Amino acid sequence: MTSPRIYRAEGLTLRKASVGEADLISSLYSREHGKLEVLARGARRLTSRLMGHFEPLTLVRLSIVRGRSLDTVAEAEVINAFPAVKAEYASVARGLYVAELIDGFSAAAAANPPLFDLALQTLDAVGRASGAADDDPAVDLPLRYFDLQLLRLSGFLPELYQCVECGADLEPERHRFAAGAGGALCSDCATPPDVIVRPLSLSALKVLRLLHRTESPDGLPRLDMPASVRQEVHGLLTETLQHWLDRQLRSQAFLDATEFA
Ligand SMILES: [Zn+2]
Repeated sequence: MTSPRIYRAEGLTLRKASVGEADLISSLYSREHGKLEVLARGARRLTSRLMGHFEPLTLVRLSIVRGRSLDTVAEAEVINAFPAVKAEYASVARGLYVAELIDGFSAAAAANPPLFDLALQTLDAVGRASGAADDDPAVDLPLRYFDLQLLRLSGFLPELYQCVECGADLEPERHRFAAGAGGALCSDCATPPDVIVRPLSLSALKVLRLLHRTESPDGLPRLDMPASVRQEVHGLLTETLQHWLDRQLRSQAFLDATEFA
C-alpha cells in the first residue's frame, strides 16, 4: 500500500531556515509523526498567506504534500501562537529552551503524543509565568518538570528510588548522583569509574521524586525551594540532559546568561 500523497499534521514549530528567494524549511514537532521537516514555498513573502505561520513556537495545523526529497506545505492554519510566551524576552528564551530540547530528543517518524502534550503544557506554564524571574517557582518548577518528564518520555529517566549500582532502596538521607551511571547512588557503593559523581541532598532527591510523580505541570505545588536546592536540582537535570544529548545546549547557555545578567 502506498501512503497517501497528502497528509495532515498538528505541529509545534521548533526552528526555521531560509532557502532560496522566499522559501523556508520549518522543523516541527508533530503529534502524529514526531519530528517533521517541511518546505513552505514563498512563506517569507510579506504577501504570502503562510507569512508568520512558521515563526518558532507556533502551533500549526498543516496539510502536507509528500515530495521526493522534502514534503511541501499545502495549507497552514495557526492554532496557537503563544502570545504570552512571546510577550517578554525571558519567556521567549524559556520557550526556545523547550523547543531545542524537544528538537534534540525527538526523532523523525517517531510519534510520542505525551511528549507533544508536555511541550504544549510547558509553553502554557511559561506563558502564565511571563514577567516572573528565573528563580520564581512559577517559572523554575515547570521547566524542571519538563526536563525530568522529557527524560522519562524519551526513555532516559534517571533512577531516583534505588541505587543504580547495587539496587538497594534509597533511604531518606544524603546520597550521590551520577548522570553517566543512570541516576542515584547509595553511600555504600564504590564510585563507578569514568563518571562524574555529584552529592545528592535529601531535599533535591525529594524534589526530583515530586517532579517524577506529578501528572502535569498544572499539578505542581507552589514549592519555595532554597536557592541551593533549586540550583542542585537544576544542575543534576542539566547534567543528565547533556549526558544524553551529547552536545551543548545553546538555549541553556542563553538562559544561564540571562539569569545572571
Ligand atoms: Zn549501592
